[in-house]
Amino acid sequence: MKAESGSSAMFVQCQGCRKTLFATEFLASHKVCGTCGHHHRLTWRERVDATFDADTFCESASTLVSHDPLNFPEYAPKYGQAQAKTGSMDSVTIGTARLEGLPVSVAVSDFHFMGGSMGSVAGEKVTLALEEAANARIPAIVFCASGGARMQEGILSLMQMAKTTAAVERCQEAGVPFIAVFTDPTMAGVLASYASVADVILSEPRALVGFAGQRVAKQAGVHKAPKDFQSAEFAMRSGMIDRIVPRKDLRPTLATLCRTLGGRLLHGAAHG
Ligand SMILES: [Zn+2]
Repeated sequence: MKAESGSSAMFVQCQGCRKTLFATEFLASHKVCGTCGHHHRLTWRERVDATFDADTFCESASTLVSHDPLNFPEYAPKYGQAQAKTGSMDSVTIGTARLEGLPVSVAVSDFHFMGGSMGSVAGEKVTLALEEAANARIPAIVFCASGGARMQEGILSLMQMAKTTAAVERCQEAGVPFIAVFTDPTMAGVLASYASVADVILSEPRALVGFAGQRVAKQAGVHKAPKDFQSAEFAMRSGMIDRIVPRKDLRPTLATLCRTLGGRLLHGAAHG
C-alpha cells in the first residue's frame, strides 16, 4: 500500500481495489482492506503482533548472518540494504511465543527482506524452530512468505530444502504438530520443501502459491493453465491446502489446532 500524497499518515491506498482507506482502520484490521478484502503483506513483527499473545514473543538466533559463501556479485551490498530496510539480519525470524496461553515455536518469513528468499541462514533458522518444537514438545507454527531459494547462495540455498524437510521429521518423531501458514507469496524452493510437508497447511486468501512463477511457466510452454493457477484457492481445490483462513480468523484457528493436536503432549510437558 502507499500513502496518499499530501497526507502521509492518514490515508493509504489499497493495492487490491485502489480505494483510499483510513490508515488507522487499515492498521487495526492488520492491513486487510475493508472494502475488497485484499490481504497486504506484513512484516515479521506485524505478523507476530497480529497472531500471538502480547509481549510473549522471545526471539532466538537473531544474530545469524550469511557470509556470502560464493562471493556472489552485488550480494553483500544488497544484503546490507535489506538489513537496513527491515531492521532484521535475514529473511526469517524465529523464537517462542504463547498463543492463547499455549507455548509454541515460531518461524516467520518476511517478504520485505530480499523477497523472503531462503539462503543458509533462513534454512538454519527454520530448522532450529522445528527442532525447538520437537525438543520442547510444543507445536511449531511457520509463516511462509517467500519467492523461493536465494540465488546468491547457489547450491547452499538448495541444500536448505533437504535440511528443513529433514527437520520436519524430528517433529513427527516427537509427536508434535507442525502447522504451516502460506501467505503471499509461497513459492518455489520453500513450497517444494518444508512448507508442503506440514501436518496442517493453512493459507491466507488469494496468496500466490506455486513452484515456477507465471513468467517462467509461460516460457516453459504452459499456456493453457486455469485462470487462478498458482493461487491458494487453486491449491486448495487440488488438495494441497487444508483450509483458507482470513487473517482475522488465523489466531483462533491456530490456537484451536494447537490445543487439539498438541493438547496431550502439552499437558504431559506441563507436568513433566
Ligand atoms: Zn481493497
